[in-house]
Amino acid sequence: MKILKEIKDFVGETLPSKAEITKIEMEGPEVAIYTKNPATFFENENYVAKIAFELKKRINIRTDKSLLIDQAEAKEKIMKLVPEDAGIKDISFEKAFSEVTIEAVKPGLVIGKGGGTSKSIILETGWTPNIVRAPTQNSEILRGIRHHLHRYADERKKILQDTAKKIYADAETNGNDWVRMVALGGFRQVGRSSILVETPSTKVLIDCGINVASNEKPYPYLDALHFPLNELDAVIVSHAHMDHGGFVPYLFKSGYRGPVYCTAPTRDLMALLHFDYIDVLGKERKEPAYNESDVKEVIKYCIPRNYREVTDIAPDMRLTLHNAAHILGSSSVHLHIGKGAHNLVYTGDMKFGFTRLFNNVDIKYPRLETLILESTYGGRDCIQPDRQDAEERLLRVIKETIQRDGNILIPVFAVGRGQEIMLVLENFYKKGLLDAKCYVDGMTREASAIHTAYPEYLRKGVQRRVLQNDSPFNAEIFELATSKTRDEIAEEKGVIIIASSGMLTGGTSVAYLHKLAESPDNALIFVGYQGEGSLGRKIQSGIKSIPVTDAKGRTRAMQMALRVETIEGFSGHSDRNQLVSYIRNLKPKPKRVLIGHGEKSNALDLSRYISSKMGINATALRNLDAARLR
Ligand SMILES: [Zn+2]
Ligand SMILES: [Zn+2]
Repeated sequence: MKILKEIKDFVGETLPSKAEITKIEMEGPEVAIYTKNPATFFENENYVAKIAFELKKRINIRTDKSLLIDQAEAKEKIMKLVPEDAGIKDISFEKAFSEVTIEAVKPGLVIGKGGGTSKSIILETGWTPNIVRAPTQNSEILRGIRHHLHRYADERKKILQDTAKKIYADAETNGNDWVRMVALGGFRQVGRSSILVETPSTKVLIDCGINVASNEKPYPYLDALHFPLNELDAVIVSHAHMDHGGFVPYLFKSGYRGPVYCTAPTRDLMALLHFDYIDVLGKERKEPAYNESDVKEVIKYCIPRNYREVTDIAPDMRLTLHNAAHILGSSSVHLHIGKGAHNLVYTGDMKFGFTRLFNNVDIKYPRLETLILESTYGGRDCIQPDRQDAEERLLRVIKETIQRDGNILIPVFAVGRGQEIMLVLENFYKKGLLDAKCYVDGMTREASAIHTAYPEYLRKGVQRRVLQNDSPFNAEIFELATSKTRDEIAEEKGVIIIASSGMLTGGTSVAYLHKLAESPDNALIFVGYQGEGSLGRKIQSGIKSIPVTDAKGRTRAMQMALRVETIEGFSGHSDRNQLVSYIRNLKPKPKRVLIGHGEKSNALDLSRYISSKMGINATALRNLDAARLR
């Protein structure tokens, strides 16, 4: 690797000889510098900043392996150095990275003032702390993922080194005079999003989803690729939802062994949804497209990135993830291709508007030529009501139902709408507007717990509460639904049930619907998008009778007697006006807009508007269309 030589030269020039650098390695897109004298870096903190700035890479300073003290001894020292208030939950050592992972309720106290405690740990033990936040609620899945990452640390190190060889291959990339994209799924439809971005030397997949609302064509057109999957250079996942990340384990099942770039919360939430998908299909005695070992393989290959962190992912491609304000860790993907020959932004699912959970979506990019824009609510009639109105209406329907002693079922996506609705209900409760019991199903609870491990991804107010151990997701009003049987809960009076799946395509929300549907006192409230073909969509369009099969295999017609309401305004997607405002506010203005992630009429309508009224070349691509970007 030519780059390694350059880095070594630069580091040698920048650092004084007393730093005693013993080794410099590439770990995927990052640089690891091993030193025998870590104190040098504490005496002058500009060193790391300067190297990171010049190299435009994340720099990890590690101590030389000869300085690592015995693990048991190190553990003892760490427990002495870190104040008890930090609430250390776990300490595990990863020799491959000279790192000690410390999981704590208050990571700030492990870091200490000005990083003091962390530095003492390094100086006294040799191990560099990798500090992670413990969720304020127990999360089985998070514990499993962290354990898995620890267990396979050696293998992950090897994966990162192999990845680095490809990213920094010395091959000449002068011939990169073209860039194209191929729509593999999720165009003129919602579901199975996937895009290939290709140059003469690089092939990258952005998203690889499953359309869970469709039984007929649930997967993207990977068979249209003209090369085997193991020739892909990288996979980028915008966010955890199944229609974006759901099919990623299949890539591994089919032989892909390369990096998966996403935010850390996306990695964790994606695994949660993958395991749930396998579980739900198993219960329905259907064959999932992949199994648990494929999901675990994905976790190993994930390279988590923060928002706005510029990352080399191929000799001619740089990736930056930006906040998309859609769900925890959701990103818009910026690709800087061929030394600036082309700049592409793929919005992913994106909310240009207020949410209780997230900071505002990013609208500034260094450069931008092509925008790939979602259009879930892109049609001219897709105008969502004001958020305030939506909340008032939700409260009204809930109260009217409780007055009749009925129960309220709110089907939600376990990740996203689930938490947004929980925040809304908790706010009602705090203001004394609502005093009903609210049951939350296991999936939604797990997802909420993962939110509390990543407060830095949440809007300030929520972040503060999580940091003060007053997480709204733990509020008294919420009770875990598995504490009682579903029959018991359904027989209670005046309770709210939050359950996934959000489109009634399976899972606990469907089980509750079966218990509540036939009484006119109950209510079903849709707060999120209902995909074409889903049971949710059918009920929304007024279907009155649904065939159900009981445990004995007998089929009967279930009458939909309960009140059905759709309350728009809680969506994690932008409505038509917000999509248009988003483009108006984007800096710089894109030269071309390609429309995806919307049903045909919505995608076409938005595309026409952008072309005719905004003067920007826009196209609603179809699946399998290819577009030359340069
Ligand atoms: Zn989504
Ligand atoms: Zn989506």
